[in-house]
Amino acid sequence: MFGTLRDKDSRAQIQKLTGAFVFEKDIQQSSQQGETSLNGAILAVKDNIAVEGMPLSCGSKILSGFISPYSATCIDLLQKAGAVVAGKTNLDEFGMGSSCDSSSLGRTNNPWDLERVAGGSSGGSAAAVAAGLADIALGSDTGGSVRQPAFFCGIYGLKPSYGVISRYGLTSYASSLDTIGIMTRSIDLMESSFDCIAKKDEKDSTSRAIKNEASSDDSFKHRKLAVLHLEKGDISDGASEGYTRLIKLYKNEGFEVETVHLETLDYVLPAYYTIASAEASANLARYTGIRYGLSPDFAENPSDYVSKVRTEGFGSEVKLRILLGTYVLRSGFQDKYYTKAQSIRAEIRRELSGLFENYDGLIMPVFPTLAFLHGDDSMDEYQQRLADKFTCIANLCGVPGLSIPAGSYEGLPTGAQILGPDFSEKRLFSFGRIAEAHFPVETPKIVENIA
Ligand code: GLN
Repeated sequence: MFGTLRDKDSRAQIQKLTGAFVFEKDIQQSSQQGETSLNGAILAVKDNIAVEGMPLSCGSKILSGFISPYSATCIDLLQKAGAVVAGKTNLDEFGMGSSCDSSSLGRTNNPWDLERVAGGSSGGSAAAVAAGLADIALGSDTGGSVRQPAFFCGIYGLKPSYGVISRYGLTSYASSLDTIGIMTRSIDLMESSFDCIAKKDEKDSTSRAIKNEASSDDSFKHRKLAVLHLEKGDISDGASEGYTRLIKLYKNEGFEVETVHLETLDYVLPAYYTIASAEASANLARYTGIRYGLSPDFAENPSDYVSKVRTEGFGSEVKLRILLGTYVLRSGFQDKYYTKAQSIRAEIRRELSGLFENYDGLIMPVFPTLAFLHGDDSMDEYQQRLADKFTCIANLCGVPGLSIPAGSYEGLPTGAQILGPDFSEKRLFSFGRIAEAHFPVETPKIVENIA
């Protein structure tokens, strides 16, 4: 019914080529009964979201062998609605990265071109949906990790308003930016999944109920769309193609389209990386190997034990972020870095919410390039961080963003994202539906050949 592959052999072949899942379940054995909205939908879950009885690795050696004793609230809700968990998907370690190549469990390949990355950090989830291994995938978006891999793999990716989907059961990276997001091949399924899990949850103190009038707000009040001004060379031809196609489309659909400048855009990355690293360094302090995860064969004393676990257990990107985070938070320096980043964040939020008083949404690129090659020198970790500037802004402001595919360019998916004000998810779905009628999600060749 949902169009996902159920044949065991084809699934195994596609999984082997893409490496989307890191832990799999037999979906044949777990089909559910009942007449519910998502009955039988196959669900892939990023491996930083807890599913009771399944491993929870966060793509890190430090959590090897850990089995989750409970499920995230969103998993409970989706299972209650009839969704079937097919497994856990690959990610950049603890959600830090943009390629899905920095997981301790191996890399994930883009179903459109296996030599290319699926994007990150929720690359496994995006690849699973694009390759027909799942109908719905959950990811987490702290700075773009749902929207960017969705863009690379040619599917829809939603980063919801902060707090509307409970974070209970999501492994914390940067708590004030973290959101659980959804990936699908259709807007209808995106919307039913969102309706199912966008619920206030007692177990997450930052969870917020969607305001009533806003939850039904699919209206375009202004019929005006802001288009982010770009300088020449800001994005590649392939990324520009999707962006231009969508702008043209909305223009043809009667939207007034106006170019806007975001004065604060240049401050997005410094603010994001200061805040994200600071929060990550605090959140990741819990991984000591004492209660769970990796433990050394021998340690001289408790501090040697913890040091061995963290030295061996964390990958280099995670270590770098922890160092950066402790640096900006060190005693006497908070005002210089962390507090300053927070006031810049407030400034960015002010500018963006001012914009939404006059426009229904802001359309902008997701990432400066289309899916890049594994090991591409021009996209090293530093370049990947610089490339986050279009996505991080939504997380700093807490607003929703939807990544929308718009066909392909030289064989790779392209598209753009639309951001809206707080709680405007339904309006973003309406934008998505307009695009879906013109650029329905396509199936990668490898899937067509196997299935
Ligand atoms: N590239 C971003 C980072 O590494 C993505 C974070 C995310 O959304 N999990 O921080």
